[in-house]
Amino acid sequence: MNRILQPWSEDIVAAFEMTERLGFDFRSTDFLCGVDPLYAGLHSFEEAMGSRSYRSIAHTAFRIHASDKQTTVVLPHVEHWSVVVHELGHVLDERQGYRWLLPAVSDHAKLDRWEAFAEAFQTFVLGDEQPPGWSERYDVLMSWDRSPESIFQ
Ligand SMILES: [Zn+2]
Repeated sequence: MNRILQPWSEDIVAAFEMTERLGFDFRSTDFLCGVDPLYAGLHSFEEAMGSRSYRSIAHTAFRIHASDKQTTVVLPHVEHWSVVVHELGHVLDERQGYRWLLPAVSDHAKLDRWEAFAEAFQTFVLGDEQPPGWSERYDVLMSWDRSPESIFQ
């Protein structure tokens, strides 16, 4: 299910450009922007972590969950491009067959292995240009036994 609206396109393109610098190509990824994914019929999972709803938060519907079997990044609201990069991390994780169990680089990463992967990927893509307060994440990533380059390929 692919629906990209103009207000979202700038951040999606920015996320593509940031990841392409590192050799990734996510341009075949579907996006569903500005609509409740349950209403659109993409999937039927409402309850997200905490008491949040997948109707209104950024997330990625994996192939096995999407009604059309297309991995889809769902952006009900316009998000900063770094959030799009996080979602593309979920896309990469699926492409790799959920192969890695990575240490958590943030509190959100402690939720589960999927969030740990996406948060680490986001940190990797932002590199040494982390937003204020995030430099610790990059230090954690760089302290791993394995190089992030060998994981995110
Ligand atoms: Zn996530």
